[in-house]
Amino acid sequence: MKIVLATKNRNKLREFTQMLTGTDVCLVSLDRFPDCPEVLEDGSSFAENALKKAGTIAAHTGHISIADDSGIEVDALEGRPGIYSARYAGPEADDLQNNTKLLGELEGHPAEKRGAQFRCVIALAAPDGTHQVVEGVCRGVIADAPRGSNGFGYDPLFLDETSGRTFAEMGSEYKNRISHRFQAIRELQKVLPEFLEKVNNQSLNVKRKG
Ligand code: IMP
Repeated sequence: MKIVLATKNRNKLREFTQMLTGTDVCLVSLDRFPDCPEVLEDGSSFAENALKKAGTIAAHTGHISIADDSGIEVDALEGRPGIYSARYAGPEADDLQNNTKLLGELEGHPAEKRGAQFRCVIALAAPDGTHQVVEGVCRGVIADAPRGSNGFGYDPLFLDETSGRTFAEMGSEYKNRISHRFQAIRELQKVLPEFLEKVNNQSLNVKRKG
């Protein structure tokens, strides 16, 4: 079954491909569909953004599509930056500026008040409009200062309490076994067979009626 991953991010394509190995899914990059419209992430939740991306790409390509939206939610900031994670310090902000802003907001907060979580929501959408959402969460603590040089985004600040390392201090192999994206993909693996069957049955019904 061919499924289009609604991202041009090669790291995400690699992660998804690795984690879906062993299933009969053949993931195809959005790069193969250069005419696809850009999708504005203007929803009010991760799920809205992911569904908008997956739905648009499924309708445009005629294939089932998967899209994800993710970010970091900090307890002491009532879940901020959340869906604004990529542009927390401003529309053009880079990772360093976003991390600096987050550290500033948490200044003076002791370790027990620095709880946070990464959240990843994955949407599945078919050209006929059938859709489903799954999510994964990974809990941790915001470190006092950036540590490590691997990864991207908030990885240098996100401390995994089990290993005592930030996501940027651990190798991608370890991160990919505990991350929010991994948890969400695991949920995706669980629901995918039923989703594919539902879409297949619907298209058979349409053919029969036609
Ligand atoms: P998106 O899902 O690619 O749109 O992610 C939005 C933003 O969330 C990214 O720009 C990062 O700042 C942050 N983010 C999402 N996942 C991760 C991660 O695994 N590590 C670090 N930052 C992340």
